[in-house]
Amino acid sequence: MASVWLAALALVLAGPVPSVLARAQWPQRVPRAAIVLWQAIALAAVLAAVGSALAAPEELLRALGPEQRQGTTMVVAVAIAAILAGLIVLRLLGVLVLLAVRTRRRRARHRDMVDLLDRAERSALIGGGGAKSVLRVLDGAVPFAYCVPGRAPRVVVTEAALDTLDADELRAVLAHEQAHLDARHDLVREGFVALHQAFPVLARSRQARDAVGMLLEMLADDAGRSRCSDTAMAGALEAFGAAGDTEVGARLARVRAQACGSRALATGTYLAAAAVVVVPTVAVVIPWLAVALPAAGVLR
Ligand SMILES: [Zn+2]
Repeated sequence: MASVWLAALALVLAGPVPSVLARAQWPQRVPRAAIVLWQAIALAAVLAAVGSALAAPEELLRALGPEQRQGTTMVVAVAIAAILAGLIVLRLLGVLVLLAVRTRRRRARHRDMVDLLDRAERSALIGGGGAKSVLRVLDGAVPFAYCVPGRAPRVVVTEAALDTLDADELRAVLAHEQAHLDARHDLVREGFVALHQAFPVLARSRQARDAVGMLLEMLADDAGRSRCSDTAMAGALEAFGAAGDTEVGARLARVRAQACGSRALATGTYLAAAAVVVVPTVAVVIPWLAVALPAAGVLR
């Protein structure tokens, strides 16, 4: 039954759980812990799918009778299990490697482009977004800012942003972008994009990827708030938020409400993340191994 339980768990963790969590408001109060919970759910879903693939052939043979668990039949069952589990892992790794290569290539081109288009006279006046990154200022009538992560990171702002923001708001924006770079939020995002792409098209859902993207923005907003002030961060978001931009609207409402998560909520979320990974292992995988290994003659 372990394979059935694990398959059911993988489906629940890939569908209904992300759906409920993506709609919940409380993760926005503890974005760091909530991202860890999302990562735990993703990891547990992959482990459950791999575990189910590994357990299914052995359990099928055990159901057919003791004589089936010997010789060639057992070797074939182990080979099928290894191939099924290997396919899941290889698909994920393949997508991850391809995505990493493409992203780094695109970023290198992007970095060259912003270096070329930099309004040097203005970026020299402001200085770097932080000790580890270089600031670039682009010509442009729309106020926005972003970062290009990697080994030679850049923080990019438009001239319109410099003209619109006051000094405190600009510091909050630079702190926000530097937080993305320092904590390598791009790697977290990349993991969820890879997981999204590795899923079969029909079973694919953008909920996890989008929810984690939003939480990463909120985490960076918190860095801007703590380096400057809630007022400065809110002012910057107001300047950047186009009418109808629901994501910036939600972030602005959160900063205005001065939302701060309680320590208890964060601790509870971390405990839930640990439980999502540990409980299925203890409740399903270990009992299966305790039966399957002696049955296969590995342990007697
Ligand atoms: Zn951001």
